[in-house]
Amino acid sequence: MNTQTKMFKTKERKRIKNVPGFPEDVEYPLMESFYTIQGEGTHSGKPAYFIRLAGCDVKCWWCDVKESWDESRHPKIKTGDIVKGAKESNAEFAVITGGEPLLHNLEPLTLSLKQAGLKVHLETSGSSPLTGQLDWITLSPKRFKKPLDEIFPYVDELKVVVLKNKDLEWAEENAGKCPSSSNLLLQPEWDTPSSVPLIVDYVKKNPKWRISLQTHKFMNVP
Ligand code: SF4
Repeated sequence: MNTQTKMFKTKERKRIKNVPGFPEDVEYPLMESFYTIQGEGTHSGKPAYFIRLAGCDVKCWWCDVKESWDESRHPKIKTGDIVKGAKESNAEFAVITGGEPLLHNLEPLTLSLKQAGLKVHLETSGSSPLTGQLDWITLSPKRFKKPLDEIFPYVDELKVVVLKNKDLEWAEENAGKCPSSSNLLLQPEWDTPSSVPLIVDYVKKNPKWRISLQTHKFMNVP
């Protein structure tokens, strides 16, 4: 499952066929896109082209990209122009993040990125239907708006932000729905470092979990 492109939702694919024009002309609200280092998770330390789509209906209180929530505040950019930036960056893979990127049908964007020769990673809370052609799915489930069950068979990496004990229960609840091959990661919230001892103690007692840190923040890169 990890090495093959995943294609989702026949319904969504049919819907795209009804979109007039070409996938390159489909527009997405784009907050920012940039070439940087993936700081978190299994692919931490690798160069990656980040595409941050605007719009989020999850609204975590500790969110560090609240300016992404209202998509009307961000310009709509054609897929072709987004992909051009990614292709020119020299990145081997793009990370589609948000906001909550699954608020948008990702089929045109992911298809175009793959046609440009990039692998496509997704970071999502899983709270909206899964669309797109994806090589890697990071599920970061939020208690405020739970993931849809349909995403769990496709999860490559489960990454749970932990602030308190209740989050560890939430992490286990979600891990129980993921494939046995999924990487299981617990991550402290940057502005709440008091959770680090809790996570360290939990991982020592439950070694199926690993710790993910936001290393890009230590390096002061976006
Ligand atoms: S899902 Fe992500 S973008 Fe949305 S509020 Fe939570 S942390 Fe922020």
